[in-house]
Amino acid sequence: MDPRLNWLSWIELDLAALRHNLAAFRSLLTPSTQLLFVVKANAYGHGLEPIVRAAASSVDAFGVHAIGEAEQVRQAGWQGRLLVMGGIARRELEAVVRLSLDVTVFDSGTVRLLDELGQARGASIPCHLKVETGTHRQGADPEDLPELLALLKGARGVRLEGLSTHFANIEDTTDHGYAQTQLARFRVIADEVRARGFNQVVRHTACTAAALTLPETTFEMVRLGIGGYGLWPSRETLASTRARSGERLELRPVLSWKARITELKWVEAGEYVGYGLSYRTGHRTRLAVLPIGYSDGYDRGLSGLAHVLVHGRRAPVLGRVCMNILLCDVTDVGEAKIEDEVVLLGTVDGESVGADKLAAWAQTIPYEIVARLSPTLPRVAVEDGAPIQQLR
Ligand SMILES: *Cc1c(COP(=O)(O)O)cnc(C)c1O
Repeated sequence: MDPRLNWLSWIELDLAALRHNLAAFRSLLTPSTQLLFVVKANAYGHGLEPIVRAAASSVDAFGVHAIGEAEQVRQAGWQGRLLVMGGIARRELEAVVRLSLDVTVFDSGTVRLLDELGQARGASIPCHLKVETGTHRQGADPEDLPELLALLKGARGVRLEGLSTHFANIEDTTDHGYAQTQLARFRVIADEVRARGFNQVVRHTACTAAALTLPETTFEMVRLGIGGYGLWPSRETLASTRARSGERLELRPVLSWKARITELKWVEAGEYVGYGLSYRTGHRTRLAVLPIGYSDGYDRGLSGLAHVLVHGRRAPVLGRVCMNILLCDVTDVGEAKIEDEVVLLGTVDGESVGADKLAAWAQTIPYEIVARLSPTLPRVAVEDGAPIQQLR
């Protein structure tokens, strides 16, 4: 039976689209460049375990932010390279060996602790030194490099596997001047690291936008996130990519979010709708109640601005988005019935509400739109619109 018939709201994942996107990025890279797929934040809200299982045969490595996420990736069955990109609490360090993780390091204190741990367990923990090149977020100060490299040189429980940095200004601009400056700083550092005897070190700097717009950032490994899910980081990245390459890289969104109408009613002209008296009907209005709200990840900033798709037609969101409820105007939609399917995010009959559109309405970025989708929404894999597998 189609599990969607039992649900009032759910997420559909087009796993063929995921594989298409990963293959498209793979085709941009030289054969020796590793593709690390970033699945932090519940795989950008898509659902970590199904995404890991579906992507496993298309990538060389996965990247997560935290240890808890790494644990889930291992539970999904991935045994290859798995990089933790964020910080690790000291009391969690033990899990690094247990789960065979690659870790990101920025400071000598952590390197010493990892070295002790590795030696105690007879392991050589692969670490990736992240260096500061101008983002001032996470990364070791270039001044501290000589000390860090000396420490790594003498270490037996930890080894320098990778060298990385992250760009500050690559997604939301078509001007890559600052990224070029960071890249030049990174090259100087990488050459020095190699000259000190770490000549096998895996250099990685590129996120989606860098891989698309500055191919010289790809080195030995790329950290691909949003593009793998079929979303463009921004309009600017889309414009830069189109301007750069004549060939058309087509990205296919993997995720759709749907809900069913739970209540329908007529509201007379001049009546208020929802909290805060923020909307008043201008005409007699057919109102549909949807059982989702900001707690499910439908941003409250979409109040009065967004529309959903009912039978492929646009139905404006009326009044404020509530915690679990959304109200929309289906007066012009034709015959709407209780339990009819509504598209909150996705495409139906050629009409679409993409993450980019929701992001523009909510004054945020597509990343936040998908990353905040509730992990508790049920998920189903679909192929050509038909359900193929219920996911956990
Ligand atoms: C999230 C993240 C990425 C992926 O970025 P996208 O823009 O989604 O491709 C890459 N590197 C680091 C360090 C990240 O935190």
